[in-house]
Amino acid sequence: MPIPIHDPLHPPGGALKRLPLLKAAVTFIAAVCLCLCGLLYLQLEQSRRHDLESARVASANLTRAMAQQAQDTFLQADLVLASQADWIQVDGFAPASRPRLHQTFARRVQSLEQLHGLFLFDKNGHWVVTSFDKLQRGPGVADREYFLFHQQNASLVAHIGPAIRSRQNGEWIIPVSRRVNDRDGNFQGVLLAGIKMSYFDRFFKSFSLDDKGEMALALSDGTLLARRPFDEARIGRPLAEEHLFRHDLPGAVSGDAIIRSAVDGVVRLYNHQHLQAYPLVVTAAMSEEAILTGWHDRAFQSSLIVALVVLGICLFGWVFARQVRNSERIEADLRKAQEALELIATHDSLTGLANRRLFERALEVEFGRGARQRSPLSLIMLDIDCFKRYNDTYGHVAGDHCLVELAKVLRECCHRKADLAVRYGGEEFAVLLPDTDLHGAMVLAEQIRQKVIARHVTHSGSPTGYVTVSLGCYAFVPCSLDSIEVFIQRADAALYQAKHSGRNRVAAFSLNGGLDTLLRSDR
Ligand code: GH3
Ligand code: MG
Ligand code: MG
Repeated sequence: MPIPIHDPLHPPGGALKRLPLLKAAVTFIAAVCLCLCGLLYLQLEQSRRHDLESARVASANLTRAMAQQAQDTFLQADLVLASQADWIQVDGFAPASRPRLHQTFARRVQSLEQLHGLFLFDKNGHWVVTSFDKLQRGPGVADREYFLFHQQNASLVAHIGPAIRSRQNGEWIIPVSRRVNDRDGNFQGVLLAGIKMSYFDRFFKSFSLDDKGEMALALSDGTLLARRPFDEARIGRPLAEEHLFRHDLPGAVSGDAIIRSAVDGVVRLYNHQHLQAYPLVVTAAMSEEAILTGWHDRAFQSSLIVALVVLGICLFGWVFARQVRNSERIEADLRKAQEALELIATHDSLTGLANRRLFERALEVEFGRGARQRSPLSLIMLDIDCFKRYNDTYGHVAGDHCLVELAKVLRECCHRKADLAVRYGGEEFAVLLPDTDLHGAMVLAEQIRQKVIARHVTHSGSPTGYVTVSLGCYAFVPCSLDSIEVFIQRADAALYQAKHSGRNRVAAFSLNGGLDTLLRSDR
């Protein structure tokens, strides 16, 4: 059964409600893109952490190897110093024993690659014996840091001082020294082993390190002893990164940190390790750029792939959105066309009033509603008086205008939303009045009749001189057994009665009292 246009229980367009497809698609695409970007970020972050962790392990291994090598180097020199110091303490270094000491010193220097030379200084800092064949002459070493240290400290432990240039041959050496006492424990001089800085340089260079990588050996207070790359200007000066280990807790062995170098601005992973036996520390640094080279390549590739996928999804979303918008536009056009068709199919083109098709649908609905709610339903049938004559006198075009005027009157009189004015056929009209009893219908019919007269549409063929109408009313409370045809027939019978009684009047059909006619003549 077609749905009546005016039925409030079924508002037009209700069946066309749809999900907000466009919004849902945009939200879904945005969520997918966000998820992809989130996954990419997590994956890259994880692989970055993994690369840094691997570099941390590698640099920790490197500093451990450096620390071991430094410890061995200094220990060997220290053992030589300790044995010689014990010997000298017992036998002294009288001129007679000096040739033998020189020979021993020279043999030791030959046997230990790292040794630049061995030196014995008296308590005034003058050369007594060295491993070199020619004894150095000159002001001595009383001004050297290691000499002053032993002069002022009774400790017999080996002392490692800042790197110095040998007064023997100008080579950079790291001094390892021990105090020499006489049998009574009085200061007799200093025994010195010079460790070649080049020995560490060679060792440092044996490792493969990136261009911006660094390796260094320093005193625990941060004073630089040897470094790769070699930079003479920085030897003996504090390490730029000394703060990384200067404040290590006692007992701490190693540590690492990623920092930007204050010297060249390069970000590096710095790892350091303290030597257990000596107040020394080794550091190794790899540039973050070198550590993350592989990661950068992988990140670029993954980001490119994700960007392409996101672009593809967005492109698809754009095409999809366009399609949805197009189909929405087409749907809106179709809906408009459908409404226009519905209007054409249910309304009269001349007067704009409802036509018979809509009238029949409305009757079915109102019959059902009246039966359900036990409310009265009224119908007014209306016919223009002597209209044939009007056409004959003024022509069909004027007749059409007259019909339009009458439609206006009907529209004016139908105040309630549920009232339906219909062009029933030709110059016959109907007004369906739901929830209205016979009295109400007759009052409205009379109003219509009066308003038609009040329009003063000249009609020379009419007894009144104006266009008039006759109206027939019928009202009843419908029940499911009642037929629509009978309902219309009775209203039509009332109209016939009005015509028969002289036109320009309202008549009513009542089951009990037969046909009542209200005469309304302006004459
Ligand atoms: P009565 O008072 O008994 O109704 O007399 P009448 O002349 O009006 O008789 P009837 O109702 O039979 O006349 C119908 C006339 O209405 C016939 C036709 O010329 C005219 N008519 C019907 N439809 C139209 C229309 O669409 N336009 C015009 N101009 N005239 C119409
Ligand atoms: Mg007629
Ligand atoms: Mg007529």
